[in-house]
Amino acid sequence: MKRVVVEEKILERNNESAEKIRQILKDKDVFALNFMASPGAGKTTVIERTIEALKDSYRISYIDGDLDTDRDASRIKNLGVDVVQINTSGACHLDAYMVLKALEKVSLDCDLLIIENVGNLVCPATFDIGTHKNIVILSVPEGDDKIKKYPVMFNIADVVLLNKVDLLKFLNFDVDKVKRELRDVNPKAKLIQISATEGYGMKMWYSFLERLRPSPILETVGPFPQTV
Ligand code: MG
Ligand code: ZN
Repeated sequence: MKRVVVEEKILERNNESAEKIRQILKDKDVFALNFMASPGAGKTTVIERTIEALKDSYRISYIDGDLDTDRDASRIKNLGVDVVQINTSGACHLDAYMVLKALEKVSLDCDLLIIENVGNLVCPATFDIGTHKNIVILSVPEGDDKIKKYPVMFNIADVVLLNKVDLLKFLNFDVDKVKRELRDVNPKAKLIQISATEGYGMKMWYSFLERLRPSPILETVGPFPQTV
């Protein structure tokens, strides 16, 4: 019982910080995305391609959550956007307090703030970090059974990017099963099939992202459902 109380307090404190983040983003008119996925699903590559495609139309800033390194952050910095690195020193998710601290450093003179969460399909889903939309990437090599294995993550997804579809021809992966299970877990989520390295489906993702962006969305944000 004691453990549950501690978790509730942690999440309560997290939500207070998430509220502050929402207010800051609203004041600055910044639209923020939280990218979540397993390690190796292609978060950084999808983000790289997305920034390349949109950086002439939008001012973009990027916050990277990583256990120890700044490898992803340096890849993104090469694209000329403002980058802030959060090293979680071993923690397997970003929490709202870490992001709030990062907002003091990152340029908020931007239209779009991209946050790359720590690679993990479990606890990033329980920590609201005040962003407007959750983008969850699932890649073909991970297998077609992940939606029901990690329902909390897929339940909070606004968009699921099914990445590395160029590998479908080599692997035993049932796209229809993924579609079906996503409809069960989260009928509102949009599924887009992409290959970030080959370019397949990326235009559809960019134009969907641009449609997500309009400001009325800023009015509809709220904390995401807590599951603990
Ligand atoms: Mg990465
Ligand atoms: Zn964690």
